[in-house]
Amino acid sequence: MTVLPGWAALGLSLLLVFVAPTAAETLRLDGPLVQGGLVIGHTEPGAAVAVAVDGRASRDLRVSADGLFLIGLGRDAPPRLTVRVKHAGGATTTRTLEIARRTYQVQRIDGLPRRQVTPGAAELRRIKADNAAIAGVRAGDSAGAHFASGFAWPVEGRLSGVFGSRRILNGVPRRPHNGLDITASRGTPVMAAAAGIVALARPDMFLTGQTVMIDHGHGLTSVYAHMSGILVKEGQPVAKGAPIGLVGATGRVTGAHLHWGVTWFATHVDPGLLVGPSPVGE
Ligand SMILES: [Zn+2]
Repeated sequence: MTVLPGWAALGLSLLLVFVAPTAAETLRLDGPLVQGGLVIGHTEPGAAVAVAVDGRASRDLRVSADGLFLIGLGRDAPPRLTVRVKHAGGATTTRTLEIARRTYQVQRIDGLPRRQVTPGAAELRRIKADNAAIAGVRAGDSAGAHFASGFAWPVEGRLSGVFGSRRILNGVPRRPHNGLDITASRGTPVMAAAAGIVALARPDMFLTGQTVMIDHGHGLTSVYAHMSGILVKEGQPVAKGAPIGLVGATGRVTGAHLHWGVTWFATHVDPGLLVGPSPVGE
């Protein structure tokens, strides 16, 4: 008969503790599965997440230390996409999401200055430079999961432009509207819709006027345009609800309002789906 020494038995039980699974394999997806929606995923720390759209090559997503990840659904998102999670323990979970279709309004805006609707060569050069700066911010994939603060309306006011509407400017069809227009009087404070880092603060963009962009992490950014004043500097951390600027009428506008956009990398999502009904109504 063999008697296991006490220290050996202790070692065996420690070993059993270390090989036992330490985190449950989880996959939870919060957010509306609808075109323009933002989905916040929850998995266990250490998992790897990839998303594939209609059989196209899958894309690896950043997963926070808490197991959070983001998927943005564009205005014209296809009817389904596949989320594949490789769990820390080796198992894989695959889930197919059915994305509900939306119908969008047609919006006609007349009376805009001609050079803003059909800009000349000099204006086009400015627009191109502005767009490159905006695209540079949107290409970022920073690690802080600031979006976990949740979202709030940046200003209260009547909605004068909704997400996704097809726009006809001075009779010329243009790209769909990619954010919300909130009407408020000039000088009304504009708040950060969620926590983040100020990624762009420029007083003179051709189309968007005085403009601030905030990086909320994991490719999610928000933009605040047409302001009459900027209260933050690039690189500055902001809390959800912190004042960042003042409502104005700079850039391509017909009156004072805030254009508020939210983008997951280059994909525009509907800010209205992040915050619930407007406190003022439509
Ligand atoms: Zn707008």
